[in-house]
Amino acid sequence: MFEDSIAFIKSEYQGKDSIPLHEPFLSGNAKNYVNECIESSHVSSVGSFVNRFENMVAKYTNATYAIATINGTAALHLALILAGVNKGDEVITQPLTYVATVNAISYIGAQPIFIDVEKTTLGLSPEKLEHFLKTQTTVKNGCCFNKTTGKQIKAVVPMHTLGFPSRINDILDVCQSYQLKVIEDAAESLGSFYKDQHTGTFGLLGVLSFNGNKTITTGGGGIILTNDKAIALKAKHLSTNAKKEDSWGYVHDSIGYNYRMPALNAALGCAQMEELNNILLQKRRLAQRYAQFFKSKSIDFIKEPKDSHSNYWLNAICLENIEQRDLFLSETNSENIKTRPLWQLMNHLDIYTTAQQGNLENAIWLQERIVNLPSSVVNVKNEAAE
Ligand SMILES: *Cc1c(COP(=O)(O)O)cnc(C)c1O
Repeated sequence: MFEDSIAFIKSEYQGKDSIPLHEPFLSGNAKNYVNECIESSHVSSVGSFVNRFENMVAKYTNATYAIATINGTAALHLALILAGVNKGDEVITQPLTYVATVNAISYIGAQPIFIDVEKTTLGLSPEKLEHFLKTQTTVKNGCCFNKTTGKQIKAVVPMHTLGFPSRINDILDVCQSYQLKVIEDAAESLGSFYKDQHTGTFGLLGVLSFNGNKTITTGGGGIILTNDKAIALKAKHLSTNAKKEDSWGYVHDSIGYNYRMPALNAALGCAQMEELNNILLQKRRLAQRYAQFFKSKSIDFIKEPKDSHSNYWLNAICLENIEQRDLFLSETNSENIKTRPLWQLMNHLDIYTTAQQGNLENAIWLQERIVNLPSSVVNVKNEAAE
């Protein structure tokens, strides 16, 4: 049924027996910088590479401050703390996301509330968010309370799904009227812009991930973006065990976290940032070729939404129904082409079935139809990294 698609993907990744969904492109100065880092002996939290990496990311995204962490999940956890989310609070997010978004909320002891996404952007729907807030909450003394649970809703975490920017300005407008902080989960969207502004720089805080499957990688890593100086200082402080900097004693003024990115990872990150524009260009070209091919097959290839520039982190098609999706998945995977469905919706995971939710029809519709396609920019490779 999907022989032509299989042939097309194989031709894009010539000579590979197994085609992964996304593998890193470790080129340029990767080995040089990692070697340099090893030779300096400052492989951990001291040394210049972490600051250098932070500066490169801040410059690229145009965020005023960037604070590097051990991974994106830790960055999300800290960002929620920095936004003032406490145990017993509630946080709104989308059901169509990677589990880390919701786990970070749980680490604090806060509860998630799931609001639907849009079919066009795959991101949080500003209209459905507003409808929920209008009908289910009251604002008292500048705080937003959930009428059902009586608890305070502190923040909203929209996610830029697969690198496609959500309608972040409209989400911000709604959140402002209800006194809610916005933390953007931009883990998948380095290189994605909404109206020429980088994703992750609209809200009070934004988070990127540099896991091995993301657009660029530091092995494992994440970063917090913010334009607020006090928050940036606190982010660095909390990520380094809240150790007071002006003392040589071990004075820790609050319960901090060992979340700082090690220099060894940042060294790789510096080399990857140098390659970013090249990687993004190659990804865009691949997306264009996919778009053209699937158009000829009358299969819906997902394109960047209006007003936005996507990094095309993971290319995606939308099939007619769940049967077609599963057929595409089984035919391609039996040929060692590692296509994947979207994540299980968060409200369908046993750990989150009891969470409050709005009408989630779009998330369900998309989850039943979308398939992610191999999206690495590596064409020739000696060994496949799993
Ligand atoms: C990758 C990812 C994260 C987590 O990042 P890690 O660096 O793997 O901890 C969070 N949210 C989303 C949406 C992601 O895709």
